[in-house]
Amino acid sequence: MEFLHNPPTDIHALIVDDDDVDRERLTRMLHHGPRRISVVEATSRAEALQLIRRPATHFDIVFLDFGLTDGDGRDLVPAIHQELDPDCPIVAVTGNGDEQIAAAAIKSGMTEFLTKKALSAEKVAASVEECMAWRKYRQDLRRAEAELTHRSMHDPLTDLPNRSLFFDRLEQHCARARRSGDPVAVVMIDLDRFKEVNDSLGHAAGDMVLGMVARRLRANLREVDTIARLGGDEFALILQNIATHEAALQIVGKLIKLVEQPILHDQRVLYVGASAGVALCPQLGYAPTALLSAADATMYDAKRGIDKVVVATDTLALGLTAIDRPVLLDEFEAAMAANEVDWHWQPKIDMRDGRITGFETLVRWNRAKGEPISPEHLVRTVEQSPLLETFTYHCLDRVLAEFAPIRSAVGDVTLAVNISPRVLERPGFVERVAEKVRLNGIDPRSVTLELTETALINNPAQTRRVIESLLAHHIQLSIDDFGAGFTSFGYLREFPVGEIKIDRSFIARFSESRFDQSLVSSLVVLCESLGIPLVAEGVETLETRQRLVALGCHYGQGYGICPPIPYAQVMPWIAKWYVSLPGKTLSA
Ligand code: C2E
Ligand code: CA
Ligand code: CA
Repeated sequence: MEFLHNPPTDIHALIVDDDDVDRERLTRMLHHGPRRISVVEATSRAEALQLIRRPATHFDIVFLDFGLTDGDGRDLVPAIHQELDPDCPIVAVTGNGDEQIAAAAIKSGMTEFLTKKALSAEKVAASVEECMAWRKYRQDLRRAEAELTHRSMHDPLTDLPNRSLFFDRLEQHCARARRSGDPVAVVMIDLDRFKEVNDSLGHAAGDMVLGMVARRLRANLREVDTIARLGGDEFALILQNIATHEAALQIVGKLIKLVEQPILHDQRVLYVGASAGVALCPQLGYAPTALLSAADATMYDAKRGIDKVVVATDTLALGLTAIDRPVLLDEFEAAMAANEVDWHWQPKIDMRDGRITGFETLVRWNRAKGEPISPEHLVRTVEQSPLLETFTYHCLDRVLAEFAPIRSAVGDVTLAVNISPRVLERPGFVERVAEKVRLNGIDPRSVTLELTETALINNPAQTRRVIESLLAHHIQLSIDDFGAGFTSFGYLREFPVGEIKIDRSFIARFSESRFDQSLVSSLVVLCESLGIPLVAEGVETLETRQRLVALGCHYGQGYGICPPIPYAQVMPWIAKWYVSLPGKTLSA
């Protein structure tokens, strides 16, 4: 091309005209002007199109004759604006100086109008200046618009996409997955201990941590993946082509490790942790909202549990969308009223000699219609609803009444009832529990309420008050799922708890993990010094049972001893269990 051989110039112009004389005249006038202009000439519509479509073509201005031998020059306007540059000024150059034609030219997308009859170097130069000003204005406008759009779609702190852009992209990915079957993973990541950084070191440190986490994540993702900051210390990702549970665990696990690398700030080393929940599409469907809330729900599972990354497998997580919840709760309320909600019983034993020490009650609800719902999801849904109080008292009424005959038949066994922390806030809770225990003729010393460790951390002052007033009524409190919340052991000294249950996630990996074994060992020592009985949950094998006993953890519960069983089977099970003792084998 001609201009490639010229020295660098200010403006590249294209002249489209089939008249050789007119073209040369305009070129000359352009070269006469104050700016350095390089000119490319096209003698027909076809040639012009060819030039426009040539890769890496760039023109700052186009001069266009209307009447070309192969068609109307005006037809080129859309091609110039769409294929070349939306801000490229076009000057109409025609033989007749009709005002109407000028107006029509401007209307059809041209910027300026020149008449061949009255052409002069000055006029041409003036129109070039007009066009350049127009172009700059358009470009500025476009930039400002883009900037505004960007700002409305991005988080100002990290410059990552925000929630609305993330959701947009998620919708696109889901639509594509539905069409093509390409799998995607939706990941929610939430930082642990971020609040501590913010509270103790200030917001500047907090912002620095968020920026660093954002950079680490972005640097380790592929171009095709999306990472967004949804707010606070919450990040969300869309990962393409993650087809399996295992692949998700591997990739997201790696990302979490990266996030957890120490961060240097102000001569301090900061450690923030992270937990992630993953929802896979198409395994969990194609609905963006449902996927996001499944990822969110499992992220909270990860926060509570030992695994830093949890992949949602339970399609029920999806059943509990905002739309379904009221229906489910209505149904559940009716089921309670009709006495269709049951509690299964799981024995707890002294693993040294097999003596039964108590039973834990676990809710079971067989929905008449609809998908079955796991106790965990049911409880989580109820906990967030006004039904919590009804549920808790209904539970106590049922299991206390059922416990009375067991207690008289077996003697020294306890009843453990799971309690949601939120119900502790209700006025008169402890008194009502004590009253119900008394009305059922049960010794309060044989009743234990199980409360998760997280409840204790989240509201220590309140929990302490509740524990103390329970104790005043001789009712014990057990710390459930211990270890899952990574409480400092110091807490245990401060609370007068009656029992500690080690979270089953530690016990499940017990035989492979030295960490879990050493946690149990330290807990044994601590609990002995405090005189608190220690219970292992989730004892699934004989090997685990023996190992726990060897380490000094004496009490246990789990499928390997007995799964939770319907109430009607409790008495027969007790009879059978005692017949089989003192045999050392585990029951089926
Ligand atoms: P949790 O209090 O930690 O209950 C123990 C869970 O472990 C039960 O799950 C039980 O079925 C399960 N489990 C028992 N032995 C084993 C084992 O050897 N291996 C494994 N992998 N699991 C075992 P479930 O019944 O699904 O209950 C889940 C959670 O729902 C409970 O966890 C508790 O937090 C809550 N929950 C259950 N019933 C009630 C209730 O009546 N009220 C309240 N507030 N929460 C309840
Ligand atoms: Ca429990
Ligand atoms: Ca537990």
